[in-house]
Amino acid sequence: MGNPEGFLKIKRMESGYRPVEERVNDYREVEMLLPDEQRELQASRCMDCGVPFCHWGCPVSNIMPEWQEMIYRKDWKAAYDILKATNNFPEFTGRVCPAPCEASCVLSINDEPVTIRQNELAVIEKAFELGYVKPEPPAVRTGKKVAVIGSGPAGLACADMLNKCGHSITVFEAADSPGGYLRYGIPDFKLDKKIIDRRVDLMEREGVEFKTGITVGRDIDTAELCAEYDAVMIAIGAREPRDLNIGGRSLGGIYYALDYLEQQNRRIRGDHIPEEELIKIIGRKVVVIGGGDTGSDCVGNANRQGAGSITQIEILPEPPDHRTDSDPWPLWPRVKKTSSSHEEGCERLWNVKTLRFHGDETGVSRISAIRVTWARDNHGNMVVHDIPGTEFELQADIVFLAMGFTHVVHEGIVKSFGTELDGNGNIRVDDNFMTSVRGVFSAGDSVRGASLVVWAIHQGREAARGINLYLNRDS
Ligand SMILES: Cc1cc2nc3c(=O)[nH]c(=O)nc-3n(C[C@H](O)[C@H](O)[C@H](O)COP(=O)(O)OP(=O)(O)OC[C@H]3O[C@@H](n4cnc5c(N)ncnc54)[C@H](O)[C@@H]3O)c2cc1C
Ligand code: SF4
Repeated sequence: MGNPEGFLKIKRMESGYRPVEERVNDYREVEMLLPDEQRELQASRCMDCGVPFCHWGCPVSNIMPEWQEMIYRKDWKAAYDILKATNNFPEFTGRVCPAPCEASCVLSINDEPVTIRQNELAVIEKAFELGYVKPEPPAVRTGKKVAVIGSGPAGLACADMLNKCGHSITVFEAADSPGGYLRYGIPDFKLDKKIIDRRVDLMEREGVEFKTGITVGRDIDTAELCAEYDAVMIAIGAREPRDLNIGGRSLGGIYYALDYLEQQNRRIRGDHIPEEELIKIIGRKVVVIGGGDTGSDCVGNANRQGAGSITQIEILPEPPDHRTDSDPWPLWPRVKKTSSSHEEGCERLWNVKTLRFHGDETGVSRISAIRVTWARDNHGNMVVHDIPGTEFELQADIVFLAMGFTHVVHEGIVKSFGTELDGNGNIRVDDNFMTSVRGVFSAGDSVRGASLVVWAIHQGREAARGINLYLNRDS
């Protein structure tokens, strides 16, 4: 424990965001970094509890009390060495993790939690700045070859771990650049894409081979892949978007959120988007259907592109501002989240069900909706009821469907490998992340369903452990 009195004397201080009026004019990251002296003080708030619930709350089991102490002692190298032992990519989680660790921090019982996520980001950025992050290729190669399909955080973490074991790794990626939703989903103002390039470059220098623009199952036969490689890892995410099959769905101007978010990421990178494919926002009335993070990312982009108005609607009730008895500490609190994008301006409506889209050959122009209420049925399940007489209309020139993803895409690779699915339609794996097909493994959203970067990293690491066991089974 760095400072036994830190938690008593130092108050939580967040890095904070750049001012709204500045940040809505650009796509640079909105969150700032604290000066080192402030960061050291923030780390000194860690109580080094006997039972560190933060460690339990973190999917990759980061050992944060240890690295917080090293931050306080200004030993950034030691902090980095401890952090990298459990997390391959703290620069991603340090930026976008919702930090379940902080929800379970013991300090949060009667005070504000330690700024664990921001401390983590400070460690890795300092490590890059001071040159501690260097390519560390394995000393010996085993001669075993593994194909990793998909370069989101699950595929990257698995590739990184297996490469460190000395296996030869080829990552096949359908998109033109690696990163999965880190690159073509999460907006630049939350995660600058140079951060992904920096890590991919490091992995390449450590010997991982990336083959982009290759859709396995179409450009390469899955049987060919199985014959050429000693093991295969499927990390293709859960990318089947949830649709809203109501009247008027085929009108122009109604898009899946990801179509918009990917296009935005590409435009910011400077890609040419053909005029007829451009989703034009300026001055238009934007309605985002779905109150979650993907919807919030649409709000942030639409504000930057000068939308006339933005309304985000959600069928679920507005969550409370504080924990309730149903989610006590140290569980994850189901409370209302106001993101940096919401702060930049948008109207949020709760308990609203969309009934129909209206418009003409020029596209959607309005939405009819109704207020709803929720009640438990005889089995204890929450059931939605329309409130009669509460129908209303919303003007809408552009609609984004941001209602999440149902499961892994079945067409193509999943059918081609013939892996068994679970009850949710995702890939079923055993304790070692092997699918029903021997030698073929899977992890991340394709197994867990749409989730978080930190869970994808955790599962990628666990699958690497399973693959390594499998490769070494006869030795
Ligand atoms: C808009 C948005 C915002 C998000 N924001 C956050 C956030 O702030 N914090 C957070 O923790 N999580 C966030 N998430 C969730 C997070 O991004 C995902 O949980 C995570 O990326 C899943 O990682 P993955 O590696 O399993 O899959 P993905 O990231 O989906 O990567 C799968 C990769 O597989 C590739 N692929 C698919 N099929 C093939 C094929 N046949 N051949 C070759 N390659 C293929 C895809 O092109 C893709 O690159 C967000 C998600 C979205 C969509
Ligand atoms: S990865 Fe996420 S949960 Fe784990 S310590 Fe970092 S911010 Fe917390």
